[in-house]
Amino acid sequence: MILAAHLFLGALIGTAVKSLPIAILLSFLSHYVLDIIPHTEYSIEKIKSRDWKNSIPEFLKVSIDLLAPLAFILFLSMDLRITFVSLFSIIPDGLDFLGILFPNRLTQQHRAFHQKIHFLKHIKMPHFLRWASQIVVILVSAYLIY
Ligand SMILES: [Zn+2]
Repeated sequence: MILAAHLFLGALIGTAVKSLPIAILLSFLSHYVLDIIPHTEYSIEKIKSRDWKNSIPEFLKVSIDLLAPLAFILFLSMDLRITFVSLFSIIPDGLDFLGILFPNRLTQQHRAFHQKIHFLKHIKMPHFLRWASQIVVILVSAYLIY
């Protein structure tokens, strides 16, 4: 899923769970749970293929997908703790990026596991539902945070 969906659910977990270590753990694990839901993502093929010269537009997309939700979450919650907890929800994607930068056995194992989580991605469904699922996660989480 796009980072925004993960961040908003992570923020909701930060809102609902009072214990910080448990909130952080649940925020991290929520990434894998959300990725089970069939979804679509924007392309980061240039980044994945380490084509750095042509990857600036993709880094721009990722930056917007990261910074805009964080700004919204901070604005809605007015709480740095909730914003901090939400960041743990995108660590799995961060680990994948680390694996692109520094491929090794551990990062490749994580990447393989992360891909396996997407086991429903080949299920037949209208393309708009693959965006709708993410929009629903964002809107419901944002509503509950506020
Ligand atoms: Zn993921």
